[in-house]
Amino acid sequence: MQVLCTTKELRHHIANFKAKNPNKTIGLVPTMGALHNGHLSLITQSKEQCDYTIVSIFVNPTQFAPNEDFDKYPRKQEADLNICQKADVDIVFMPEIAQMYPLDSTLQTTFNAPKNMANVLEGKTRPGHFDGVLQVVLKLFNLTQPTKAFFGQKDAQQLLIIQKMVEDLFLPVTIVPCPIIRTQDGLALSSRNAYLSENGKREALKISSALNAITKAIMQGIKDSKSLERIALEVLEGTEVEYLAIVDRELEALQSIKKDSTLVLIVARIEGVRLLDNLWF
Ligand code: AMP
Repeated sequence: MQVLCTTKELRHHIANFKAKNPNKTIGLVPTMGALHNGHLSLITQSKEQCDYTIVSIFVNPTQFAPNEDFDKYPRKQEADLNICQKADVDIVFMPEIAQMYPLDSTLQTTFNAPKNMANVLEGKTRPGHFDGVLQVVLKLFNLTQPTKAFFGQKDAQQLLIIQKMVEDLFLPVTIVPCPIIRTQDGLALSSRNAYLSENGKREALKISSALNAITKAIMQGIKDSKSLERIALEVLEGTEVEYLAIVDRELEALQSIKKDSTLVLIVARIEGVRLLDNLWF
């Protein structure tokens, strides 16, 4: 495994690799580090589907608002490298901020994620968040020129907006959505779970229980969004729910669920930590 820290080294490496291996496929797994089994599942898929796997580890400042946890975000370089080594990753790209943003980010080219998808749900409380995500993801695509890039369904809105960017800009990369990995008792794995106490983790289980209650109700034939929301909110009683939404793949609210185009999203705050979970139906 090679660890590269500069964009120059990475570009050089990719150019060499492509010249020597014109028919080999490259898989990219973009992460912000503090790797857990959720990230590992993306790496495993890349290893299965591609000849060469690159993991990027970069806590991207442009997707954090000034009041968010950029400084506090867990950073675990050594453990991350061990995980990548064990998973037989080919390259870990771990740049400093100045590598990705040689100029102050306000002096750089930026672009806006489509408003209808970016100003709702997560975007409502995190203005500019998805613009920052697209900025860094596009930079990573251009640097690594992947055949496929792997993203978790855990960050549903992010995944859909990245798919939209790829479609709108005709980017030559296939986005592979990967299922949510959970603890045995159902909590969706997240680097931010590290902020929770044991009690907090127990309370957080209400989120996946609420999604399970919705799945069960759907199986029993309930389709109306209002009824499904009521069922979930009962399970979440006592928890600070920031939003519970039932939307289609364009993130438009649905009155009634439709098979293969429904997304149920829950964001709740437990011990001050924002936790996201969702259900793709
Ligand atoms: P992050 O490091 O939080 O930016 O996440 C990097 C990638 O891992 C994103 O595509 C996430 O959606 C994905 N990811 C994070 N947690 C999970 C999980 N529990 N299951 C599957 N994918 C995940």
